[in-house]
Amino acid sequence: MRRLNHFIDGQNVSGTSGRFGDLFDPNTGAVQGQVPLADISEIATAVAAARAAFPAWAAQNPQRRARVMFEFKRLVEANMDDLAALLSSEHGKVIADSRGDIQRGLDVVEFAAGIPHLQKGEFTENAGPGIDVYSMRQPLGVCAGITPFNFPAMIPCWMAAVAIACGNTFILKPSEKTPSVPLRLAELMLQAGAPAGVFNVVNGDKVAVDAILHHPDIKAVSFVGSSDIAQYVYATGAAHGKRVQAMGGAKNHGIILPDADMDQVVRDIVGAAFGSAGERCMALPVAVPVGKNTADEFVARMQDAIAGLKVGISTDAQAQFGPVVSAAHRDRIARYVQMGVDEGAELVVDGRGLELQGHENGFFIGPSLFDHVTPDMQSYRDEIFGPVLQVVRAETLAQATHLATAHQYGNGVAIFTRSGRAAREFAARVDVGMVGINVPIPVPVSYHSFGGWKRSAFGDTNQHGPDGVRFWTRIKTVTERWPDGDIGDQAFVIPTMG
Ligand code: NAD
Repeated sequence: MRRLNHFIDGQNVSGTSGRFGDLFDPNTGAVQGQVPLADISEIATAVAAARAAFPAWAAQNPQRRARVMFEFKRLVEANMDDLAALLSSEHGKVIADSRGDIQRGLDVVEFAAGIPHLQKGEFTENAGPGIDVYSMRQPLGVCAGITPFNFPAMIPCWMAAVAIACGNTFILKPSEKTPSVPLRLAELMLQAGAPAGVFNVVNGDKVAVDAILHHPDIKAVSFVGSSDIAQYVYATGAAHGKRVQAMGGAKNHGIILPDADMDQVVRDIVGAAFGSAGERCMALPVAVPVGKNTADEFVARMQDAIAGLKVGISTDAQAQFGPVVSAAHRDRIARYVQMGVDEGAELVVDGRGLELQGHENGFFIGPSLFDHVTPDMQSYRDEIFGPVLQVVRAETLAQATHLATAHQYGNGVAIFTRSGRAAREFAARVDVGMVGINVPIPVPVSYHSFGGWKRSAFGDTNQHGPDGVRFWTRIKTVTERWPDGDIGDQAFVIPTMG
């Protein structure tokens, strides 16, 4: 059985707390390894290493930090097949989705490689007589990231790539359910040229998270996970003087107007609702068809589309999605399906009770479809985070927009229509952070910023893009005046390239 380590100061280090968590293979349900759960002293060791590495790393010129990002990207690409297989074996998503997870992370690494340009400050000549003013974006120091199970490559890269490129040193506390790929990423960053102590990975649970939130030498914490914990991390980190951004859960709506291209709608929503078993914060688990005819057609066609879906083990190239991450999560999803039935929604397709021959103990659950879901139902208000699509029927676009606006979560939303005017109005009015127009999963590209509204995000800045650089740096503004004096030729010294 595999026993994982931490990665501290450039070394694989055994866990010393005496506590370990089981690491499952969701395809078989078997325990495949053990992950150490750090205590306060192990976090302190990682912080000390990151603190020692900070001054030299921060002093590197930005093009050298950029070169590490270029090399890191090359190494991850060279290891893509192994990383994708490792990721699927712990998460359960199919290999194509694991490759997508890694690729989305690499997109951010590519963005971070532009750091010489991104980190430039501003300059004003002659702000007063003989006075110039300039600003610099400086790194913060030791920073930390706490990540969820569902994107073990992409989300660590959102944080670590930008933070490290900006000159910070970093401690990642990945999900204890999917820690292996984050550990490999830290090893590859070292191999790419980041000195020991620049990128550390400490495995753990709430104990490690609390140790991070309380440690006085950690200057900033980025969190992605469920909303209650995001809110806790935001409040606790801020109370301890840290800069915090904390992304939470989601319940994204897809609004279908009567003039939408229904072929595209069905194709897109099948992928967005059930892809990766619905374990995506930008999944589309709520469809809102506007008008009875739109709703009847959508439900009938979705029922047919679901009949064509294949659920399989994560290495099955024909499968659209694999098992969910744990038995507890599968059972929680099944409870929500039952709750929907008990609340009076119409269960059109029931995905419960799916068993795969030869993988009877795997964490599988099939796709479910509900019609006639109403906003007062708890199964609608909560995030299910599984392969369950709920149809809430609306009479008008205004009603549909209000549903997304009134929901506690505001991560993403999509509208399907041929009307530019309706789409434009919707995008301007809806109370949600990321909007797709005929795009079901509107995850912004790496050079824009990712983040939701309401209970989907706590804090002022989003992930990657311009906000990422803002979050991982602080601005220093210098106002300078030089005494008068005779300037001889020898005063001009042209610096040479280092
Ligand atoms: P989670 O909240 O259970 O765990 C996230 C992290 O918090 C993990 O590292 C975990 O170890 C830690 N943690 C767990 N319990 C804790 C506690 N009591 N105190 C302190 N730390 C704790 O989330 P998850 O199940 O790993 O991931 C799924 C959730 O993440 C969903 O809600 C999903 O919507 C959300 N998510 C959000 C985004 C986004 O960008 N908004 C992206 C991906 C996932």
